[in-house]
Amino acid sequence: MQIPTATSPDNFTPELLGSGETSCSTINKGGAGPVVLVCEHASPYIPKYFNGLGLADEIKSSHIAWDPGAFDLAKCLSSKFDAPLVHSNISRLVYDCNRGAGEASAMTARSEIFDVPGNVEISSSEAHARIEQIYNPFSITLDKVIEEKKSLIATPLLVTIHSFTPVYFGQKRDVEIGILHSSDSRLANEMLALAPMFGNIKIERNQPYGPEDGVAHTLEEHGIKNNLPNVMIEVRNDLLADSEGAKRICEVLFKLISLSQPKLVNSANGEQ
Ligand SMILES: [Zn+2]
Repeated sequence: MQIPTATSPDNFTPELLGSGETSCSTINKGGAGPVVLVCEHASPYIPKYFNGLGLADEIKSSHIAWDPGAFDLAKCLSSKFDAPLVHSNISRLVYDCNRGAGEASAMTARSEIFDVPGNVEISSSEAHARIEQIYNPFSITLDKVIEEKKSLIATPLLVTIHSFTPVYFGQKRDVEIGILHSSDSRLANEMLALAPMFGNIKIERNQPYGPEDGVAHTLEEHGIKNNLPNVMIEVRNDLLADSEGAKRICEVLFKLISLSQPKLVNSANGEQ
């Protein structure tokens, strides 16, 4: 990176996104369904500015850069619910939009067993620019979509869609779908109560991660602060490897969420 001599490094803000590169997008913005969908790890795209963060091609397309299959699954749910879907257009290795500004893991120098050379020594001006140009637009976009949805529907649900790798640090993972929550477990509880209807799928609470792993940022920042019942869905990515599998999981999640939704509206009304 070249820093102009006329400007002090602390005041210099690099332009990280070039022509045609954007932080995030919204699909089905005016969708009338009672759900707001989010996919923070939808894309492995690394903007040109970063020179691939010094990673080999096979790492740039691996699960450390994004959640393979999650975006297609989120789009399927967006279509079935007629719900807006806010998704990142940039790899989580550049900025993980499921992490708050200032969290070290938002721009990690090591993910699982891989080093990320371009994140080892990030200047303060570049770190600030990543927050300003990648995280903030994502967060503001999601805020606006939620605000609009809340003005039309009493108790919309916030659902974030992720995938996880079947083998992590050499350990095989048996769980197939994780239903994750932080301090607000309303939606997760309803979904888990219904999960036995899909007895052939291993569905578990707060697996393979939980809020203690720092993965609940979007739920807390956008769900809990807005008092929206919220859940983070983690699907083992081998189940999303082909379109048949992804469609099956989409049907399962659509059923679990849509059967849960009316109960949450009733309980919210009852409490008011
Ligand atoms: Zn994810």
